[in-house]
Amino acid sequence: MDISTILSTSKPDLAPYESLYKHLHQNPGLSLQEHLAAETAAKYLRSFEGFDVRTNIGGTGLIGILKNGQGKTILLRADTDALPIEELTGLPYASKKREVDVEDRIEKPVMHACGHDMHISCMLAAAETLHTSMRHWKGTLIVLFQPNEERAAGAKAMIADGLYDSEKHACPAPDVVLGQHVFPLPAGTVGTRVGSFMSAADSFRVTVYGRGGHASMPHRTVDPVVMAAHIIVRLQTVVSREVDPRDSAVVTVGSVQSGMTENIISSEATLKINVRTVLPETRTKVLAAIKRIVKAECDASGASKEALWESTSSFPFTINDGEVTNHVAEAFSEHFGELHDPDTPPLSGSEDFSILAIEAPNKDGGRGVPYCFWNFGGSDPKTFEDFKGRGKLDELPANHSSYFAPVIQPTLSTGVDALVVAALSYLR
Ligand SMILES: [Zn+2]
Ligand SMILES: [Zn+2]
Repeated sequence: MDISTILSTSKPDLAPYESLYKHLHQNPGLSLQEHLAAETAAKYLRSFEGFDVRTNIGGTGLIGILKNGQGKTILLRADTDALPIEELTGLPYASKKREVDVEDRIEKPVMHACGHDMHISCMLAAAETLHTSMRHWKGTLIVLFQPNEERAAGAKAMIADGLYDSEKHACPAPDVVLGQHVFPLPAGTVGTRVGSFMSAADSFRVTVYGRGGHASMPHRTVDPVVMAAHIIVRLQTVVSREVDPRDSAVVTVGSVQSGMTENIISSEATLKINVRTVLPETRTKVLAAIKRIVKAECDASGASKEALWESTSSFPFTINDGEVTNHVAEAFSEHFGELHDPDTPPLSGSEDFSILAIEAPNKDGGRGVPYCFWNFGGSDPKTFEDFKGRGKLDELPANHSSYFAPVIQPTLSTGVDALVVAALSYLR
């Protein structure tokens, strides 16, 4: 029986999953506070007889393991956290939730503005489909729900808590790790890409030190505001003068703070810098250039001591394995036909998904198994064409926008199919 036939005979009625999606959408949880998502995922998985469910991995992370004879071990991953954004979609099931962020104790509006509620709903419906179709496949299926993706710490936390550790959570070592993200492309479509798919993102807080004093006596001070200003301007040359024009990178100073008032020269300045790169060698080069410039400008100003560097977050690269991606892409083309794009453009965002594969034990006794991450559309196809026709695609609400909400169908159905097809391409 081919995969499309297995799917059409085993896929459940998705109406209850549409309601589940709305419920999750209305009740989002910030990073580290994904309790409802985790409880819901565990409850569903436990209702599918045979799933071994292990919870509280690296916070609210959990896995469900379904063993079904000899065969490959496939791990499917969904992320579960929402964002501190006020929802403005006007949808009847829009989130009105506010909650205190455990990170800084500040109350914030909360919205599933990245579509992780769709990822959870797709994964649970895919788990039910694969559970129903067990007589058609062999092997081990792992579905993994990962918290705290938005702050680049959830995958690391699950690994650090012993996800693959035989003494701890004992997740079976996967042969392949697979995951997906909803994106503002026409709903119904899926996109794969071999190689570099999402950028690495490195964020730092850099403090530079001068010597404070009276604004009327600058000769008795070292002004950190001037120092910071020179650093910011000079950093603009990293991408424009040091990165190959055929490559791409971003260096953004998103925040600069120094001093409280106009008649005092302060003693230090803090810069928050965000760096995006798509190639490992460019990442090394850009980070080295930033350090070199900060150090040289501090020296040039006569700084009182060396700059302090603090990493605030670090997303790895997402570089899809050639063999695995071609294997998945072939199955997608067979099932989705024209709606699958095997050469979808790389995404500008970043993901910590790859850590779950890079840190997984492999057959050679080391770490690192191949992975594939793909996208699927969430925008109403008519709206997408309308924006495209007017040359306004940049204005179509995208992830992290107050207006971003996927159309429930065919987004949900496509996301379920993609997970099931990719898993069965290995397990059948
Ligand atoms: Zn996001
Ligand atoms: Zn996301």
